[in-house]
Amino acid sequence: MPSAYSTKALTFTRFFRFFLIAAIGVLLASCTRQTAATVTLQGETMGTTYTVKYLADGISTPPEEIQQQLDALLEEVNRQMSTYRADSEISRFNQMHDTGKPMPVSADFAAVTAEALRLNALTNGALDITVGPLVNLWGFGPNKEITREPSATEIEQAAAQTGADKIILKQDGGNTLSKTRPDVYLDLSSIAKGFGVDKLAKHLEQAGIGNYLVEIGGELRGKGKNAQGEAWRVGIEQPAITQGTATQVIIPLDNRSLATSGDYRNFHVDQQGRRLSHIIHPHTRRPISHKLASISVVADSAATADGLSTALFVLGEEDALNLARKLDLAVLMIIRDNGGYRTEMSPAFQKLLQ
Ligand code: ADP
Ligand code: MG
Repeated sequence: MPSAYSTKALTFTRFFRFFLIAAIGVLLASCTRQTAATVTLQGETMGTTYTVKYLADGISTPPEEIQQQLDALLEEVNRQMSTYRADSEISRFNQMHDTGKPMPVSADFAAVTAEALRLNALTNGALDITVGPLVNLWGFGPNKEITREPSATEIEQAAAQTGADKIILKQDGGNTLSKTRPDVYLDLSSIAKGFGVDKLAKHLEQAGIGNYLVEIGGELRGKGKNAQGEAWRVGIEQPAITQGTATQVIIPLDNRSLATSGDYRNFHVDQQGRRLSHIIHPHTRRPISHKLASISVVADSAATADGLSTALFVLGEEDALNLARKLDLAVLMIIRDNGGYRTEMSPAFQKLLQ
């Protein structure tokens, strides 16, 4: 069953299907020297796949048991944050029409919402978890059937439901969330996968596992060493379509996370043949359509990296780079340029490569 975090594109051109598979994406740097000590667990969650690798030396819990525990945690995140489930916590909040009554929410739900609100303030509203009505209107939500571009009136109506000021989070004592309009609708897809990564990573650490690489749908967190005794390394492919070759930027991930957002993985093609991203600009109220093909962000937590990558994708290459400089964020961007692509890195990202 699909879930909220990774909607599949309705329309891929043949080129972009090829592009998707062959040229771009965040790839786990392939570990050819598989040693007995490395455990690899794989499965499905949040409408996508996950991969967990860890060094099993000194770990007595069998891998199957670890995987069961991780699956249970992912199931819990889905029960909290999937808009594809009518009975999830987020769906219950979305269905609640009472504006006067704060709804008690789980600590996880409150933590993700708090982080999203922090990033909303940091990015001039670019990350906005209340953008759900617009996401749905443009056909990127649980109901993906749209046959025409929404009308100006429909966009206006959906936009009236959005804005971070329309939710009130209270974290003193118990956690509660309330809405200022009956039709406020949350969408945590921009940050939930990263949160899931953090959750799995924490569990591994509690289980005594200090060397791991966790990935859900391209969002990653690594800690400690791999079987070769080095930091886990991940590659971001830089497409070089004009030369027909692609190079990789390799990033060591020791106690760090990496997330990527882009319009190459998930988009519709509109009637004019423009690519429409599944990421909505909260200010223009339209799907993003700009020169930035993808943006990768390295941060301590995967939730932060995930939320920031979505936000900076909204901002576009110039504003994203300016903000990255100002806040010392490690950012790598792949920008469409003259029929090809070029890569740009923030100073903090360059430092990671030294
Ligand atoms: P992916 O799921 O491809 O990894 P993101 O992490 O960037 O991508 O999250 C994109 C999802 O977030 C969209 O599918 C949509 O549900 C939601 N979304 C779209 N625009 C915004 C926005 N401006 N702020 C917050 N969430 C958004
Ligand atoms: Mg994101």
